[in-house]
Amino acid sequence: MVNPEAAGPDAYALQRKAMVGTIESIVHETAAETGRSQLQKRVLTAMDKVPRHLFVPPDQRAFSYANRPLPIGNGQTISQPFMVALMTDLLDLKATDRVLEIGTGCGYQTAVLAELAREVFTIEIVPPLATEAAARFAELNFRNVTARTGDGYAGWHERAPFDAIIVTAAATEVPPALTGQLKPGGKLVIPVGHAWGSQSLLVIEKDTNGSLSTRNALGVRFVPLTREKQQ
Ligand code: SAH
Repeated sequence: MVNPEAAGPDAYALQRKAMVGTIESIVHETAAETGRSQLQKRVLTAMDKVPRHLFVPPDQRAFSYANRPLPIGNGQTISQPFMVALMTDLLDLKATDRVLEIGTGCGYQTAVLAELAREVFTIEIVPPLATEAAARFAELNFRNVTARTGDGYAGWHERAPFDAIIVTAAATEVPPALTGQLKPGGKLVIPVGHAWGSQSLLVIEKDTNGSLSTRNALGVRFVPLTREKQQ
């Protein structure tokens, strides 16, 4: 097998294209549940552009473009590419949007959002992961990303309201602060359910009158949303 590292960065382009093809077929297979038989072109373009191999630890690099989650250290994972693409699609982002992400992890989902929206704010509760991700955003020149360490359960009051909010860890209930920080017309995509058990990917929409509607887009499995110890 050709060593992609030795052949230069573009050697990953083919693997990335294959990953996008796999995502498209899973989207097709899950359409009855998700309500989406194909993803928006701009979402697929972003998936085809962001170098996932630069977001995973070096010992995982060979698996960067496989459609599965990978360990990123500190007991956390980088989400499966299909899940990143689907959740991004469900947000229906516009180029002018300001987005909040809870659960930066390695920053891969953040980077995909940053390709599609005007500004992305992201919060990570595990300090070493937050520090590594911030360094990566600087190195890869993602100037429209603002990252901080903390408990995202409370959202980011100072930067609210947001056009879209995405949570990449499973909560036991929808954090009220997050629906509160959503603009009318905005969408919140969040896995909700039992820690390590059955969870539903919810799409919550706030209409122009501020009323919320919720639908279940898919059965999923995410690491739990943890909480900072309350004083
Ligand atoms: N977005 C990542 C997924 C990371 S996994 C990707 O692109 O693959 C989920 C992340 O959520 C973990 O890094 C975990 O530490 C973080 N997390 C869990 N609870 C949190 C909380 N209350 N606030 C912020 N981040 C949290």
